[in-house]
Amino acid sequence: MRERLQALKEEALAKVDQADTLNELQDIKVAYLGKKGPITEVLRGMGKLSKEERPVIGELANKVRETIAGELDAKKEKLEARELEEKLEKETIDVTLPGRPVTLGGPHLLTSIVEEIEDLFIGMGFEVREGPEVETDYYNFEALNLPKGHPARDMQDSFYITEELLMRTHTSPVQARTMGKYQGSKPVKMICPGKVYRRDTDDATHSHQFTQVEGLYVDRNVRMSDLKGVLNRFAKQMFGEEREIRLRPSFFPFTEPSVEMDISCKVCHGEGCSVCKGTGWIEILGGGMVHPRVLEMAGYDSKEYTGFAFGMGPERIAMLKYGVDDIRHFYTNDIRFLKQYHKA
Ligand SMILES: [Zn+2]
Repeated sequence: MRERLQALKEEALAKVDQADTLNELQDIKVAYLGKKGPITEVLRGMGKLSKEERPVIGELANKVRETIAGELDAKKEKLEARELEEKLEKETIDVTLPGRPVTLGGPHLLTSIVEEIEDLFIGMGFEVREGPEVETDYYNFEALNLPKGHPARDMQDSFYITEELLMRTHTSPVQARTMGKYQGSKPVKMICPGKVYRRDTDDATHSHQFTQVEGLYVDRNVRMSDLKGVLNRFAKQMFGEEREIRLRPSFFPFTEPSVEMDISCKVCHGEGCSVCKGTGWIEILGGGMVHPRVLEMAGYDSKEYTGFAFGMGPERIAMLKYGVDDIRHFYTNDIRFLKQYHKA
C-alpha cells in the first residue's frame, strides 16, 4: 500500500508538472483527489489492514493528498500569471496610431466684432454696460423722448409681451437706466452692446433680431467736436487709417442735433464706384448730441451737462469690413460661413 501511494504521488506530480492549461489542472485534481479517485480508494481499503498499520497508512495517504493539492495550487497560480501576461501583451495599445483630430470651435464673427468694438471704446475710457432685453415701454421709448403716439415709434415696432413690456428695439434703454440711476450725480461714459428686436421681415439687410452697440458720454462741456473725434478714431481703427469720415444732418428723437456718419469708400476713396453707389461714401452709424429733455428726464441738469450718443450695428460693421453680402449669414449657423472667420 505504501508503494501504491508513493507511485500515485509521483504519477500525479508528473502530470501536474506537464499540465499546460488550467483545464488540464482541473482534470488532474478530479482524477486524483476526487471521491472516485485512487487515493480515496486506498483509504477505503484500509479496513483490511492491521490496527498498527492503519494510522501509519492513513497519515501517509493524507500527506500524499496534501502534497498533490499543494503542487496543483502552485501550478495554478503560475498558469494564471502566464495567462494574464499573455492577455496584457495581446491587448497592448499601439501608441503609434495617429489620433482623431479634435475640431476646435471659435468665437462667432459677430462676437469677435462686438469684442473688437468694446476693446476700442474701452481704450477711449468708456465702460461696458448691459441691460435687459425685455424692456418696459418707459425705458425703451418714453425716457428717450418717444412718448406714446410719437410718429417715430412706427420705425421701431417690436414684439410686445404686454402693453407696457416689449422686446427692446435698441440698446438705448441701458443708457436711460444708467443715467436714471445716477440722477445727475456724476458723468456717464459707457457703451452698451446687446441684442435688439424689431418687427421686420427678414431679407438680405433686415432681421427681426440683430445686434447694436450704442455709446453715451455725458459730462460738463461735452461738445459736438468730441463726438466727431471719438467717431473718427473708431472709424480709422476699425477700417483703416486712410478712411475719412463725414457727418450728415439727420433726425433721431433722442438727439439734437442728430447726424449720420459715413466713411469714405474703400474701393474708390471718394471718387464714386458701384460699391458706394457712386457717392464715394458708405453709411456706418448714427449719433448726435443728447436731447436736453432726455437728460432732464434722467435727472441731469441740461444747463450744466451736455452729452453725445451714437449707435451702430455690429452686423453692418462686419458686413463692410469682411464683405459679407447677406445679414442672414450671421444667424443661420452655416459652418462653412462661420469657419472663415475663426482666428487661430
Ligand atoms: Zn466707391
